[in-house]
Amino acid sequence: MHAQILTAARRPLAAAELPAPRPGPQQLLIAVRACAVCRTDLHVVDGELADPKLPLVLGHEIIGTVVEKGAAADRFAIGDRVGVPWLGWTCGVCDYCRSGQENLCDRARFTGYQIDGGYAELTVADQRFCFTIDSHYGDVEAAPLMCAGLIGYRTLRMAGDAQRLGIYGFGAAAHIVAQVARHQGRRLFAFTRPGDAAAQEFARSLGAEWAGDSTTPPPEPLDAALIFAPVGSLVPAALAATKKGGTVVCGGIHMSDIPSFPYRILWEERVLRSVANLTRRDAEEFLALAPEAGVRTETTTYPLDRANEALGDLRSGALKGAAVLVP
Ligand SMILES: [Zn+2]
Ligand SMILES: [Zn+2]
Repeated sequence: MHAQILTAARRPLAAAELPAPRPGPQQLLIAVRACAVCRTDLHVVDGELADPKLPLVLGHEIIGTVVEKGAAADRFAIGDRVGVPWLGWTCGVCDYCRSGQENLCDRARFTGYQIDGGYAELTVADQRFCFTIDSHYGDVEAAPLMCAGLIGYRTLRMAGDAQRLGIYGFGAAAHIVAQVARHQGRRLFAFTRPGDAAAQEFARSLGAEWAGDSTTPPPEPLDAALIFAPVGSLVPAALAATKKGGTVVCGGIHMSDIPSFPYRILWEERVLRSVANLTRRDAEEFLALAPEAGVRTETTTYPLDRANEALGDLRSGALKGAAVLVP
């Protein structure tokens, strides 16, 4: 099968011809129909996440069709369409797994990082971590739901019932979260790279009542802020924009260092927290909510062999919504 592989950090992906993977007892062999490109993929390529499997097939926002099943795989039938997320396997027995926090499992394994992912024609995935995708969505349109959507949704959940919601970094996750937040009746304030008029216009088109530079304070204090851009200096900016008792949630897996800041912008019971990975419960909830909330995704498609170009466009901030690879 054709695949794009990472052979070492800080190198472009290389085209490769790999043997078709074989499904283990609990696994599905999946013909990849679409795989979205996530900011996390860039962090892996850039060597910012430790010890990836190498060589590695990146990609953890996979939509595909089941073409073969392992001996114990009984949740799906041949021909079913499934989605494969970042959470690829958990141990089921550690304290985290047993307390509803499998996202923090001590032995968790992640798709497109420790397990080969979807930048390929075929992939295998554990059936227990695969999901049915609503027929409302085409393959390309559904792909960004699998991480930008799922982890974006978990990030939004951590904001509680905040009404005035700030979103820092208006990329793939934000454009989905914005639609869910508006569906829930929240007020939306979007912060972009300074001067990025196109991203600000995009945010307004998705229901933001205000959109501006990340260096500019919002017109009123925020009840909560979500940070999706991997930029540590946004943490003090978001804390300063958030009201007493409000929450700032960091939704990414990696961020540049956070500069020191005066205690007074955290004081008055502001909460600063991160979000890590997802649970299967997040996925079930969000994949049911997305069609009900009328969530649509904005995508730019690239043939699989142009994966490096897709990563480059994501890095430069040129994309509106999500990049999706199609084998
Ligand atoms: Zn565990
Ligand atoms: Zn991701």
